[in-house]
Amino acid sequence: MTDWVIFATCLLAGLLIGSFLNVVIHRGPAQWKLVDSSDRGTLVSPRSYCPDCKAPISSIHLIPLLGFAVLRGKCATCASRIPIRYPLVELMGGLAGIIAVAIFGFSTTALLAALFFWFLIALSFIDFETGYLPDALTIPLIILGLAANVIDLFTSFPNALIGAAVGYLVFRLIGAAFHRLRGLEGLGQGDAKLLAALGAWLGWLALAPIVFTAAILALGAVGALRLSGKKIAGDTPIPFGPALGAAGALAMVANGLDLPAYYWR
Ligand SMILES: [Zn+2]
Repeated sequence: MTDWVIFATCLLAGLLIGSFLNVVIHRGPAQWKLVDSSDRGTLVSPRSYCPDCKAPISSIHLIPLLGFAVLRGKCATCASRIPIRYPLVELMGGLAGIIAVAIFGFSTTALLAALFFWFLIALSFIDFETGYLPDALTIPLIILGLAANVIDLFTSFPNALIGAAVGYLVFRLIGAAFHRLRGLEGLGQGDAKLLAALGAWLGWLALAPIVFTAAILALGAVGALRLSGKKIAGDTPIPFGPALGAAGALAMVANGLDLPAYYWR
């Protein structure tokens, strides 16, 4: 196969996975009883429908990116707006597939890296929309990372084990200290499990650069929101998951490229 056929295949597969990630993001939190919404269905049924008018969405309109473009971002039946999140997640899913193959070649390692990216996309958007990082996603992500590193795919197995343990404990300790000092839930349990997962995939030496990058990204996002006129008080809950997810994805890229600052193997 020539390169462009491989890339096109990965893009298409990634777009379709992205389309499924939208279902996970929309229906997962209700199915896992994190939010109170019984009318969203499960991850597998019923088929996709408009949340406003309940009209089923025709197959042609379910095609990633094209469906949204053809509909110009509006439901075909009631013309209510389709959130920009739908094409955005589809696009990110496709890019995740391409980036994984570009870095790791057409291999099992690339497939696992893509899986890692897809989990992070779902977790980031769920945290952004609901404030939760569901165990139903973080725990499997920890197990997958440890499993991949049984054969040292991204880091050595001891590094992965220590990464999962240290990632979890560091955030639990910071969270407990923050709770003591300010009586606020600064870092949730979900954040600790997500950092444990990142440690399981990339090893304990990746944790410091990941947390540092995530903190910079989160501060940047808060700054940008302030500049755009949003009022953010000291006790406004800000989901840290998207920043952690982005930092984790960057660390995976750095791992694949063997960047010196991230040279932890
Ligand atoms: Zn509708």
